Amino acid sequence: MVLSESARVLITVKASPEPSEKYGDTVCVAGVRLDSVQPEFIRLYPVPFRWMATDQQFKKYDVIDVDLIPPINDLRPESNRLNIDTVRREGKPIKDIRARGAILEPLIGPTMCELRAGVVQNMNATSLGLVRVPTLKGVIVEPGQPWTPSQQAKIDRALQQESLFGDTTPPELKPPRFIAKYHYFCETAGCSGHKQRILDWELTAFQLRLRNMSDDAAAESIRRRFHDELCADDKRTHFFVGNIADPTKRRNFSVLGVYAPPKSSDFAATLDLGI
Ligand SMILES: [Zn+2]
Repeated sequence: MVLSESARVLITVKASPEPSEKYGDTVCVAGVRLDSVQPEFIRLYPVPFRWMATDQQFKKYDVIDVDLIPPINDLRPESNRLNIDTVRREGKPIKDIRARGAILEPLIGPTMCELRAGVVQNMNATSLGLVRVPTLKGVIVEPGQPWTPSQQAKIDRALQQESLFGDTTPPELKPPRFIAKYHYFCETAGCSGHKQRILDWELTAFQLRLRNMSDDAAAESIRRRFHDELCADDKRTHFFVGNIADPTKRRNFSVLGVYAPPKSSDFAATLDLGI
């Protein structure tokens, strides 16, 4: 029997779905653990999100209760597996930006350069963070790649099986038409800049809405959405960043989501969590 531990988690990040051997496709989810002494980042992986029952399909800023299982071959401090059957959504997603800020702003810590240096020293160092983005240079949009034959085989296999969890079989997972990267400088003096792929599911979802546009118009829409709107000049832009399990790629962090409250806001002193 695997020992499990229950946790209450504020969901902050849902990455784009990737082909998976066991479930067809899975996502990496990250959030903030609310039942620990201090709120702390937690990674939940793998999550066969598209295959889960609709009432379990949590949204960003939902609070969920879930039983955790120790990870396999992953010593990153935030990593956990989860027992999918135990996922329970608590109430409605937290919409109030002050309530979000009260939980998230105390977690703004090391800069991107510091997180990377930590992993260079110790591959199992802090692997999730919320970093300030004082200088955003732009969004780079490039053509996506087709699935590899092995990725496509995983998808094909899953579509022929009964869903393990949910009530319906999701549509076939298509490779993203575009990939996009944020180019930015962090707060470290002398930072030479970071170009990090955006792995936010919102990018996948946004692309679906552009399917009837030309390549140029669609790429411009992505830049407008992920630069001009999400990281507008009147916002304090931060990125949720994280690395991946593959030890040979641990030093490469990706942008998993954006946290950008109004510039005029200061939630660090807010004590009322609003939940
Ligand atoms: Zn930097």
